Amino acid sequence: MRPTSVEHTQFVHRSVMDRSSLDINLRILYLFFYVHGLNNALTHYHGHQQWRVDWIVRFEHQTTSTEAPPDSAGLLFSGRFVELVPTYGDAIVQDIDHRVLGSKLDLFHQQEEGPGMVFWHPRGWKLYRAIEDYIRAEMAHSGFLEIRTPQVLARSLWERSGHWDKFGASMYSLSHEDDKRPFCLKPMNCPGHIQVFSQRTRSYQDMPLRYSEFGACHRYEPSGSLQGLMRTRAFVQDDAHVFCSIEQVDAEIRNFCDLLKRIYTQFGFHEYKVFFSTRPNLRMGSDFMWDRAEAALSEAAMAAGLSFDLQPGEGAFYGPKLEFHLTDTRGRNWQCGTVQLDLFLPERLNAHFVSNEGRPHTPVLIHHAVLGSIERFIAILLEHYEGWLPSWLAPEQVSVATVTSNNAAYADRVTRLFQSSGLRAVLDSRAERLGKKIVDARERCIPTLAVVGPRDEANQTVVLRSKRGVQETVTLANAVKYLREECLPPLALRGV
Ligand SMILES: [Zn+2]
Repeated sequence: MRPTSVEHTQFVHRSVMDRSSLDINLRILYLFFYVHGLNNALTHYHGHQQWRVDWIVRFEHQTTSTEAPPDSAGLLFSGRFVELVPTYGDAIVQDIDHRVLGSKLDLFHQQEEGPGMVFWHPRGWKLYRAIEDYIRAEMAHSGFLEIRTPQVLARSLWERSGHWDKFGASMYSLSHEDDKRPFCLKPMNCPGHIQVFSQRTRSYQDMPLRYSEFGACHRYEPSGSLQGLMRTRAFVQDDAHVFCSIEQVDAEIRNFCDLLKRIYTQFGFHEYKVFFSTRPNLRMGSDFMWDRAEAALSEAAMAAGLSFDLQPGEGAFYGPKLEFHLTDTRGRNWQCGTVQLDLFLPERLNAHFVSNEGRPHTPVLIHHAVLGSIERFIAILLEHYEGWLPSWLAPEQVSVATVTSNNAAYADRVTRLFQSSGLRAVLDSRAERLGKKIVDARERCIPTLAVVGPRDEANQTVVLRSKRGVQETVTLANAVKYLREECLPPLALRGV
């Protein structure tokens, strides 16, 4: 979507300080609109640090109004409104810390008895589940079979896999008086997935075999390095392992890159950097095998059209890896996705498949995660959106608010209708003024308010009010239709 002339774009200046700086930023943004189209314009705008000193883009959303929202500054453009807000030095950095947002939005807390652990509150868990459900659907769509492997496994397995030797200092050990063997809390899921693979005789016709797991892992981190959800001792990985032949590596890496790009875009991240990490000092296997693994992974990455920077010595102890660092609205980079090519673990744990010549072969193991730690990804999302998550992720997508208590029964019916339509709807029928309910919904970053008054009950309508204050009276059927389009997760909308 591109403006054909300047008349289609409206510059808005209301209740803002420092107009000259705003003017310059608006014109730059407009120029990017013109040259790159809407979505890429935002990326380019953010990519230019020197133009982001005083202003950042806070909202970018559709509007049916020809008027910009009150108390705003920005660009109204072909039905889209992009708001620019001043950053006021460091003040905004405080506001968007995910720990502050987590408390303000009642999402989670941490306490001294569980260092590096997270207590998820009902609203936070809704967000968590929305992410998990979406990833689960994407993985199933990409041919992954979800499994679940034990939290606690005998140390002997970790010794055989090599984790105890290379990673033991970060592992939690435990035992029970009735079973004197030492056990460990799992720090990763790979050995468990290999056990599932090895439970049957596998043939070349079963390859590639793809397993995924929301794997709850524990790793010791020094207490000084713990930081909210960004660095924890307990976290869940959107982990996956592909067992395949060496000839299938290219296609599997390409599939992963497509999956990753689709998912990042869906979460609102359009830019990422790729790093290629090579053999670390502490590693298993021979140099010959590492040469082979590094060559295979870099060839697969190039075949997938990736350009990457080298990180010598940063690979996992069992294989080279690609790291995906995504860029948030403030231009910060976060390492999230990884894909690792492993020629060692399956052999160490005796995993085989029967080739088309009837001989046993060791499969290649591709380890990958798109989000990495879900906890950490939520922290990144909260800061990226400053709490205003997209509707499909918002813990509460719509709040039904009464104007007077006379319409409480109707409001209750509307709420149930929304809930039965798959929406996360809540009812606000408190004996408070409507203004107070609007403020409270904004405080909790609920994207849409559905106001019901006496006229709405008589006409079987609701007034839908967006977070920017744009409102419209619609029939119940249209409200459901609009909200479903706005709020349902991406795959549901694609009919998957
Ligand atoms: Zn793994």
